[in-house]
Amino acid sequence: MGVAGKVDASHQENVNNILENSSYQLIKESIKVCATQIQEVDNNLTQIHSNIINIFGIDILQEIQQNHENELQKIEEKIKRTKSKKISAIKCQSNELRNNNKLTTDIQTRTNPIKEQNINIVKDGNCFFRCISKYLFDTQERHEDIRHQILTTISTDKNFYTEFIDGDFDTHINNISKTDGHSTSWATEAEIIAASETYNIDFFIKTKVGLIAEWNQFSRNKHCNHGMPYITILHENNHFSLIKNIPRPCSCNPIMKPNLAKETNSKPKDKDKSEESIDNSNKQTRTK
Ligand SMILES: [Zn+2]
Repeated sequence: MGVAGKVDASHQENVNNILENSSYQLIKESIKVCATQIQEVDNNLTQIHSNIINIFGIDILQEIQQNHENELQKIEEKIKRTKSKKISAIKCQSNELRNNNKLTTDIQTRTNPIKEQNINIVKDGNCFFRCISKYLFDTQERHEDIRHQILTTISTDKNFYTEFIDGDFDTHINNISKTDGHSTSWATEAEIIAASETYNIDFFIKTKVGLIAEWNQFSRNKHCNHGMPYITILHENNHFSLIKNIPRPCSCNPIMKPNLAKETNSKPKDKDKSEESIDNSNKQTRTK
């Protein structure tokens, strides 16, 4: 419908242009015909004038000529007025047609919003970072830079991120710095929260287990930050892929009604018990 709508619109625009041009052409032709007729009348007049001079004398002729001039002037003015009226009428008509077209196109765009899109992501152990790369740069290829930027965020705030990390902090950093696809390099909750902090994006991850899907939100302050951009990611079978063109899937949005207990219960910057529970649910979902 989108493409068809565009074709219709440009077709309609061509039709409008043809109509407008032909109207102007018609006026031009009418003026030409009038000019020829006036020329004929003029020739006849010259003949009549000489007859008048012969019969009534020059004074009478001048009087007649004066009346004639006045009449002609009136006619000329009337022609001018009619011409400009007609031209502005044509302009009005064309504009109206164009506006109608634009309105139709607008309505089509509004009634056919861009559809939800699932973007395939390469399954090589870098999929989480590839999702962000795709989201930010429209290419998956910058995943390595992104991985390192996120690691910098974690490394420079060990106190905060250590609670999201199983085992030794430095070993985790060393493992995650690799792009070889080994399962120890897969993104964990620490990387998701750090990604949110690094790029100032709210992360929404839809985790699908069997038929059950659940949205979870990740941001450092655990708030749903409506002023911030958001990324939506599907997590299924140990793989992250990107979801595009969906409304912010938060519980503040009545359309989505996601299962976001964490968000509704969240207290600002209170990083003990509640965070641990997200932590546990996510630790099991290390992802390829
Ligand atoms: Zn929200």
